[in-house]
Amino acid sequence: PNRPRRPTPMTHVAAAVTGLAVVTASSAALAVMAGTGRPLPGRNAFIAGCAGLAVWCVSLGAQLLSTDPEVKQRLGGGIYLGICVAVYSLSRCLIQLAGRPRVARAAWIALALPGVVTPVLVATGWRGLVLRGFTAPAAQGPPHSESGPWFFLHTVWAYGLLAGSLLIFVVVAQRAPGGLRRQAHLLAFVVAAPLLANLVFVSGLATMGDYDPTPYTVVLSLAGLGWGLRRARLIDGQIGMVGVARDRVVEAMSDPVLTLDREGRVLDLNPAARALTGSDLSALGTPVTDLLPGWPGASSPRDSGDPSFVHDGRTYDVALTGLAGDPADDVRVAVLRDATRRERSERTSRERADVSAHNASHDDLTGLPNRTAAFAMLTGHLQAAPPVPLALIVLDLDGFKALNDSFGHVAGDDVLRELSGRLTGSAPGDVLVTRLGGDEFAVVAPSRDRGGAEALAQRLVDAVRVPFRIGHADVRLGGSAGVALSPDHGTSPDTLMYAADVAMYDAKRERTGVAVYEPTEGQRQPRRLVMSGELRDAIEQDGLDVFYQPQRDARGDIVGLEALVRWHHPERGLLLPGQFLPLAEQSALVTELTDVVLARSFADLARWRGRGLAPRLSVNISERDLRDPRLVRRVSDRLDASGVPPDALTLEVTENALVTTRDAAGQLTTLREVGVRLSLDDFGTGFAPLSTLRSLSVDEIKIDRTFVSGMANDDDRLVRAVLNFGHDLGLTVVAEGVENQRERAALLALECDALQGYLLGMPAPPEAIVFDRVNGSGPATPPGASG
Ligand code: C2E
Ligand code: CA
Ligand code: CA
Repeated sequence: PNRPRRPTPMTHVAAAVTGLAVVTASSAALAVMAGTGRPLPGRNAFIAGCAGLAVWCVSLGAQLLSTDPEVKQRLGGGIYLGICVAVYSLSRCLIQLAGRPRVARAAWIALALPGVVTPVLVATGWRGLVLRGFTAPAAQGPPHSESGPWFFLHTVWAYGLLAGSLLIFVVVAQRAPGGLRRQAHLLAFVVAAPLLANLVFVSGLATMGDYDPTPYTVVLSLAGLGWGLRRARLIDGQIGMVGVARDRVVEAMSDPVLTLDREGRVLDLNPAARALTGSDLSALGTPVTDLLPGWPGASSPRDSGDPSFVHDGRTYDVALTGLAGDPADDVRVAVLRDATRRERSERTSRERADVSAHNASHDDLTGLPNRTAAFAMLTGHLQAAPPVPLALIVLDLDGFKALNDSFGHVAGDDVLRELSGRLTGSAPGDVLVTRLGGDEFAVVAPSRDRGGAEALAQRLVDAVRVPFRIGHADVRLGGSAGVALSPDHGTSPDTLMYAADVAMYDAKRERTGVAVYEPTEGQRQPRRLVMSGELRDAIEQDGLDVFYQPQRDARGDIVGLEALVRWHHPERGLLLPGQFLPLAEQSALVTELTDVVLARSFADLARWRGRGLAPRLSVNISERDLRDPRLVRRVSDRLDASGVPPDALTLEVTENALVTTRDAAGQLTTLREVGVRLSLDDFGTGFAPLSTLRSLSVDEIKIDRTFVSGMANDDDRLVRAVLNFGHDLGLTVVAEGVENQRERAALLALECDALQGYLLGMPAPPEAIVFDRVNGSGPATPPGASG
């Protein structure tokens, strides 16, 4: 709104028209930007808002340039029309972006208020109290419509809307996670800027002559809005992995999925749910019972005893789940299954005898032969008159449970189906691929010797390792295969199956991918016991060493050291963690190992600090440590004893340890309160919901080296996404496994905070750590290096 003004000097006119042209152009650009790309909630409102601004600016500019009073008067209408559309639409857009129906309802009331209050004020003659500009005699300036009740009405309404959207912004900002809060506040400010500027001008709080600063602040505001939208899209579109992938999975699901709040109001609908309810995203915020009148447990979906209902003559089963990382239980996700269709298809399949015969020997999900078929085939081969050599491979997936927990069973089933295809595809014709159940497969391969069987097993494991596409994300799984050979390892299906199983567990434990059953396995059990006895001795008698690997900043200076445990075995020499940690992790031994590493590394750190060096120290802790309720004590006591300040210590936890350790969150939060930093290790290889990142407030993410080496193939999408996401949350991002200059340059170009890898220093004993500057171009490895 503008108050009536006297004829304006030409310079002001020129400046104002330029400003208005900029606003018009940027409105158009923003509208185009918002119009292309992924639809965001509130996009249409945003485009309408931009159009409104453009109309406003064009009219205002024309009015300034025009000399004809009649034309000026008419253009006033355009100004009001433009500003009303702009303000109203932008408010709407903000509310939809906020995606908070509860906020929305309050906001709509707030927005409606001016419409009620204005007539009252006008009728009671109080308008003069509100803003001085309204009572300014029209004779002061060229005649236009900026006087009288109409002007007043729109002004108050527009201010009401602006103030309302400001309010919404503040509410949204308050709810934004850590790193985004600052951005949200900034957004609130840029939105407020035109309001404030115009208020100051119109109310005459400051004398500015006839110079109305509003259009210029609108430019600022628009730029801010555009930036905010881009930001939203970045955060939303570039995380690219877990959260978004899950969104995409939900989007792609043929089953309707509804997200509801505590009161049963709809927060989100996937396309299938929109089709079912015949509504679009404008239905957000309405009670689910309005969309689906038969919805069970009308008031609280949680209390519904029998979760199924009838809609349009079809019965739907409802599966309701809460969200991880939503302790207040505010949000529920309802997945609907068409029970009518399921029953019908079950009936037709029941009616077909051949199908049911197939079902007895085949697995429903993948269509592969099942356990019964595997045993039948084994029996057949083993009973052959001259016994034929035979290999049995048992293959088990690594990480499947976490994938299932994170992406849901539908995605898990898809992965199993796809994998079945891959496995049969990579097995020769005489080989039978069967599914034993869950994520376990058995492969019967006649006439294979040890080498042939191992090669086949390796091929199967490789087939598992090819990333799976879930929604828009590539998800990696591992596989462990155990090989048993007949007649060497057994001549009955049971013994062979047992042998292959034992070998598979060996492969899993040693993380070798493939393992062949050792006939001496019976005696290996004691050997394992001997080894864990030796490890216990080593722990108790100071036989473990701690090596350190530097983390360096962009210049190549050491900013941190990661403690990596080593075991000097009396006969087997220097052992890497991979060779004894799995053993330790099977028992409480690992917590003692952690204690040793904590004590040793704190002592080393204290010595470095004594020499005026202050690197950060990172220590790995295992899943069992996370489950230990004394963890906080163990850490803080040792910190006190060594005099190392808590913020010099970073504890590294893997994503999967977090997912599988239910009550880790509380302990980790306590540790953070003590001042210890937390780092999410091997980031990208697990499936921790991104929500955990927010609720846990970790301080650091370590990008797993598999992604860093992916960068060599020009695939930096994931690394870029993690860096963006991490920085948005205000986290430090460290890259691991940097092995060459090319990777280093790429990471630094993406503003990675710290780098770790053989290029910048091998793990080395404390006395070999040199605090020099290494950027990988000169001689890099300190002496005494070991990987
Ligand atoms: P991690 O936490 O991911 O540690 C980094 C591993 O990557 C180290 O292997 C390190 O030697 C290796 N590495 C470093 N730079 C490069 C590189 O440029 N290229 C390649 N290919 N590898 C590189 P390490 O020492 O064998 O440790 C293996 C894992 O054992 C660690 O993985 C960590 O999860 C675990 N671990 C090590 N020490 C401890 C410990 O004290 N306690 C616990 N709980 N776990 C530990
Ligand atoms: Ca680590
Ligand atoms: Ca790691």
